[in-house]
Amino acid sequence: MKNRVGIYIQVPFCQTKCTYCNFHTGVVSSGRFAPYIDAVCGEIATHRTLYAGSGVTLPETFTAAVVDTVYIGGGTPSLLDPSLLQKLLDTIRAHFVTDLKEMTLEADPETITAEKASVWIRAGINRISFGVQSFSDRELAASGRMHRTADVYRSCATLRDAGVANISFDLIAGLPHQTRETWQSSLDELAKLAPEHVSIYVLEIDEGSHLGGEVLRGGSRYSAKRLPTEDEMAGFYETACLFLQNAGYRHYEISNWAKPGLESQHNLKYWRREPYLGLGAGAHSFSGTERWANAHDAAVYVNALQADRLPIEHYELLTRNGALEEELFLGLRQLDGIDLRSIEIEYGVAVDSRFERLDAAGLIERQGSIVRLAPNKLSVSNEVFVELMK
Ligand code: SF4
Repeated sequence: MKNRVGIYIQVPFCQTKCTYCNFHTGVVSSGRFAPYIDAVCGEIATHRTLYAGSGVTLPETFTAAVVDTVYIGGGTPSLLDPSLLQKLLDTIRAHFVTDLKEMTLEADPETITAEKASVWIRAGINRISFGVQSFSDRELAASGRMHRTADVYRSCATLRDAGVANISFDLIAGLPHQTRETWQSSLDELAKLAPEHVSIYVLEIDEGSHLGGEVLRGGSRYSAKRLPTEDEMAGFYETACLFLQNAGYRHYEISNWAKPGLESQHNLKYWRREPYLGLGAGAHSFSGTERWANAHDAAVYVNALQADRLPIEHYELLTRNGALEEELFLGLRQLDGIDLRSIEIEYGVAVDSRFERLDAAGLIERQGSIVRLAPNKLSVSNEVFVELMK
């Protein structure tokens, strides 16, 4: 069977900057959207020549591959005129061998219309990653989100009417003003809308965000004094684990739950270390042995392509040890865990002893050669990973 790869497309534009966001996204005039999409189409059409001309050998993983997943993320790609997304997908089909099983678009509630949704479906999009974040208007407003709860109900119905059968809801645990009651209410409302997939992210206060800067300064803008404590955030996450399990979702990755058989095929490639090609500003790629990333700045990226230059700003050939560390770290994010025996065979090193301290501390559980995070320690998974990498 031919290699299977995923394609990720980055659309780095948003309407405003959410207070907690540290992504490389810009608020730009809509006049910049079409030239950007032209540049990404140019990258799709010419990437093989650009790699060859730059002396970079595009791994065989890609040259002989069948593309089976596409993920268009951001940013807010649903902001774009749908004809631009259609053009992107047509260009992918024209330049790759495809057998497209899953095509995901990230969409924010306030940007969704019936007209856009019907073009998305016609273009082949069959999965929407829906940026709900919360069902509390107070939390949404305090975080600088553009939508309100009414937009979530309206646009979810619009997506269903257009024929979207696979919707993933994003929620954030730990937004300013969030309480146990509002968090439970968000989970209850989510269950009523019955998405096929759920992603829950515990808020990370990054100093590069407006909110993070304010927390560092000890100020109160962006509702910085109304953030839940770390223990409260962990409690929200644990409540969600129990709630979603009872609602029939399978918890398959630390932050992801799915109805049986509806796990994200594209995102599984990241955790299983399967190859993917990232296109667009700041997009990351992985060949199985190498990782590289395009220029983050959209203007730098567009200029490079207009000058027929490869837009890569970072390249790394993984060492065997680096690949092993990834195998352990990414593997443990999946709740099925990792098989130490097959890792030892593949890498020719013993890794068993690395888990002794974690086992003694009750942070992992073992079943034969399978190791997985202990179910009651998922909320402290970051601490487990730090301990593992020591
Ligand atoms: S919509 Fe997403 S990418 Fe854009 S500013 Fe908000 S959190 Fe960041």
